Amino acid sequence: MRGRAPEKLLGTFHPVNLDVYLDRRHDKKPEVLGEWDDQPTLMEMTEAALKVLESNDDGFFLMVEGASIDKMEHPLDGPRAVYDTIELDQAVGVAKKWAEGRDDTLIVITADHNHSMSIVGTHDRREEEGREANGVYGDSTYPTYSDEDGDGFPDDPNPDVQLFFGWSNHPDHTDDFQHNDVFLEPALTDENTGEAVDNPERDPDAKLQIGNLPGSQTNCVHTVEDVSVFASGPGAARFNAVLDNTEIFFGMIDALGVDARD
Ligand SMILES: [Zn+2]
Repeated sequence: MRGRAPEKLLGTFHPVNLDVYLDRRHDKKPEVLGEWDDQPTLMEMTEAALKVLESNDDGFFLMVEGASIDKMEHPLDGPRAVYDTIELDQAVGVAKKWAEGRDDTLIVITADHNHSMSIVGTHDRREEEGREANGVYGDSTYPTYSDEDGDGFPDDPNPDVQLFFGWSNHPDHTDDFQHNDVFLEPALTDENTGEAVDNPERDPDAKLQIGNLPGSQTNCVHTVEDVSVFASGPGAARFNAVLDNTEIFFGMIDALGVDARD
């Protein structure tokens, strides 16, 4: 943003959800983006928000959400979820850079729930394919992602050794353990029965994985594990233990100097 920042700023960039980073900035397929080919990154939006908010002498509260990490874990799309996680990480970097050298900024990073995705090992297609290419424990070798352009994101989401994503809950679906160029739902609702069925167009050559969710669920669902919380700056010490989620709120309003009873 050049010149003086406005007092207020509203940005809308898409009629529904923004496309995820992999589609928006990496693959950039015209058939996916349509006319919405200039959607900003979370880093750019964070920077723009800080420029407006920093002019308030009374301080400010800014919430930045990497909302599509969840939206890509629901449909069992590990690569798209991970690129959006890197994007959130870089947005935190923007905030940390802004707060550098200041002693008045608390930064808190957490999640509102967990999901069923785990990184189980690596998927190594150099000698095997399909399920047999999934290495676990000592058979899991280091992934071959590269970052030649130095943007912090893997240049190729489909190198010959990539992360192997496993899911603890899911509908009937097939999985070839690779990034799909164009996003496709893992399961669809059968019009006649109302039950979720494997999407025949996604990973058609892979073996069917029988679901463990009720037939009405076409996507994986949220799970109940504790999530991590990270904090830096004044008041960060409050976030150093196992906490009830409501404590996050009180830690933040204390940092703002707001009385919770008001
Ligand atoms: Zn969700």
